[in-house]
Amino acid sequence: MWQAEYRLYLYPTDIKKEIDPKKLELALQEVEFIGDILSNDSSVNNSNRYVVGEDFLSLICFMGCSPNIEIEPQEDSPFCYVEIPKKTDKIGFIAGDNVKRVNCPCCKKPQPELAKKLLNSKAEDLFLQACTECNREIDPLAINWRKSAFIAQAWVLLGNIYESEAIPDEKLLSALEQASACEWKYAYVRLK
Ligand SMILES: [Zn+2]
Repeated sequence: MWQAEYRLYLYPTDIKKEIDPKKLELALQEVEFIGDILSNDSSVNNSNRYVVGEDFLSLICFMGCSPNIEIEPQEDSPFCYVEIPKKTDKIGFIAGDNVKRVNCPCCKKPQPELAKKLLNSKAEDLFLQACTECNREIDPLAINWRKSAFIAQAWVLLGNIYESEAIPDEKLLSALEQASACEWKYAYVRLK
């Protein structure tokens, strides 16, 4: 199963809220953002993968004038797909190789290792990382990751969207907000 290295994630801002993936699926089907399920093989990131729906291109705004994107499923070459994790019960830090440099919110000193530490943290340790300079605990939610990382226990993954190549339309975010009763944001993650 081909895995996209370039991803756009949509995620709820309330990290504690339990969100039913079935509700997300229904909401995204209703606005025709997703089509048929591509694979329900639980070995694929423990997520359900979908082909993009009829209205995908109107719910994601591409910046270029004629985006060169493949929306038909391919065996082992790039194409756009959507994934929804099957179960959401564990808070995690999601980031890739494009994660932005960040500073300690208290002393403003650079924290070059923070993202790596958070990626390797258990859920219960995410809020226990200390600043390497002032030693105060850093709240990762207080950091502006500038759309390159986030903390959540639920999300929607769009495979094969390049960083800042496209942004989600208001209608897409509000469909997710209605399905979960909380605000959603987005981030770009590159895994290479
Ligand atoms: Zn500090």
